[in-house]
Amino acid sequence: MGSIAYINGELLPIDQASVNIEDRGYQFGDGIYEVVVSYNGSLFKLDAHLERLKRSAEVINLEINHSITEIRDICQKVFLKSKLDFASLYIQVTRGVSPRQHNIPENYEPNLIITVREKPEPAEMVKAVTAEDLRWKKCCVKTTNLLPNVLAKRYAHDSGCDEAILIREGNLMEGTSTNIFLVKDGVVLTPPADDYILEGITRNTVLNLIEERGYSSKVRYIKAQELFSADEVFLTGTYVEVMPVVEIDGVTINGGKPGPYTKTLREDYRNLLAP
Ligand code: PMP
Repeated sequence: MGSIAYINGELLPIDQASVNIEDRGYQFGDGIYEVVVSYNGSLFKLDAHLERLKRSAEVINLEINHSITEIRDICQKVFLKSKLDFASLYIQVTRGVSPRQHNIPENYEPNLIITVREKPEPAEMVKAVTAEDLRWKKCCVKTTNLLPNVLAKRYAHDSGCDEAILIREGNLMEGTSTNIFLVKDGVVLTPPADDYILEGITRNTVLNLIEERGYSSKVRYIKAQELFSADEVFLTGTYVEVMPVVEIDGVTINGGKPGPYTKTLREDYRNLLAP
């Protein structure tokens, strides 16, 4: 069937699916989302993504009118219907439709939408720029309110790069849609999953791979300048998997090539996706 959309129980081709203009997701960015990908016909880490959806909902007091088990079943059904083996599945829950006013209505009916489309292959490596992190103090919530992220992404694009690495008060946080890792003197470093970054499902999977490999690692705050003396830098994300960064702000990393730690972890991650 290809690209399809699910809206509150109805399945439609994506280009025929639409939502009410008074949806609070559209009006206020009052919603949350997840992106899950499939490899060889099965959705990778779906449960971890749905757990995070639940955590996001709890932080913003969004009462989803489906249990996580129900959402899991719907995701599986919509995914199977698409007949795509390598797909990306987008799940969004908003605080529903009501006459536009900032205050959250006492009674609201959340809108659940899911879209499934073909997943592109990730690039081999990317270039990045640094940018000030202009986001709020609850970046642990995967909110649809992504204006600072999209502006930083556009800045990266305008600079001839693929991703912007966000800096808050001199510390590295994450990319606009990725988590960040550095390798320095044989130690793999990544910032802690506090309120200021999204705790990536891929990040956590890669931290496990690092442990299985027996690599030294440290989860700690990282100064922005440490980027430029790193031996290797890579990003992680559902979409990009383990992505080598070979240039940052015009400074070449590891001679402009993916380094050995990054290559090994990228391979290990690929093997998990498609064993
Ligand atoms: N940080 C941000 C801001 C993101 O949007 C994403 C993508 N969801 C990530 C990190 C990576 O998370 P995950 O590995 O779960 O895709």
